[in-house]
Amino acid sequence: MELRRSIDRASFFNPATGNVEELEIEIRFDPITGKRSRILVKPLPFPKNPEMPDFSREWCPFCDERVENMGARDVRVAGKELLKRNESILMANISPYAEISLVIRITKAHYVPINELGERQFFDGFMLALDYIGKTDFEFATITMNYLRPAGSSISHPHIQVMASKTLFDLQERLIKGAEGFYRENGRCFWDAFWDEFQENRVHEGRWRFFTPFAPRGFEHVQGYIRKGLNELDEADVEELSKCIVRILGAYSEMGFNSFNFGVFGPLDAMEHIPIVFDIVARTPIDRYYQNDVFAIAKLYDENYTNRKPEETAKEIKNYF
Ligand SMILES: [Zn+2]
Repeated sequence: MELRRSIDRASFFNPATGNVEELEIEIRFDPITGKRSRILVKPLPFPKNPEMPDFSREWCPFCDERVENMGARDVRVAGKELLKRNESILMANISPYAEISLVIRITKAHYVPINELGERQFFDGFMLALDYIGKTDFEFATITMNYLRPAGSSISHPHIQVMASKTLFDLQERLIKGAEGFYRENGRCFWDAFWDEFQENRVHEGRWRFFTPFAPRGFEHVQGYIRKGLNELDEADVEELSKCIVRILGAYSEMGFNSFNFGVFGPLDAMEHIPIVFDIVARTPIDRYYQNDVFAIAKLYDENYTNRKPEETAKEIKNYF
């Protein structure tokens, strides 16, 4: 597989050292979508002891004392009841972004540090989501998580979203198109081919394979995949995904992150060219005046940026498995 990259070199005189310093910017092109990512290897000035909000004072519709009265009901599958599984509770999303738009609260506790989110909590949330998805007739579905404000979440209480629509999200559509093209030309699934060829990017192999993508879409991007459809995932598959998420979050926490996004996207019934794909990225840590990582080149010009080579991320995160 040919991977495309381009190098920029920028230099400046640093009066503190009296030297002209040169920095390399590596621009990588995603082998399947062509989407670009700029890698500038340089640590970010992350807060050592971030000033966290007082989560205990936050008003929250997902806390036990309000969820029964405030949780919006899903009218398509759940009816008037709130679907539950241990700590997980499924509700309609009152800010829907697609025809199917749900939120699932996954913990009883209002605030949980990322290294304390449990396998069981993810498992129950995913099982509720998958049960629901199985009762729809969409071709693809998406499950996401935005954790804390830097990741775009308006509510701190840990929750995931489930979405399905006739019209996919922009990158999903390009991903499918690219995957179809790759399959047509090479006679095999892109993810299997990447896994076989780029061992340096591997993080973990089990039922799911986890690796760091060539052109990361954010800090410490890890991607996982399984060659199944969402309707075919069994409990052991979901358990393994949940366990791996907990391990990656453990790594993020050690690195000083406290906020993240993830997404699970896949066909309901297995397809040869596209597996179920899981993506997770760390976001800038929440702090009193946190610095957002989506600046002009990302927001206006659709260019990804990260500060570490994915092969280095793989090397480090592997240690947590
Ligand atoms: Zn809450």
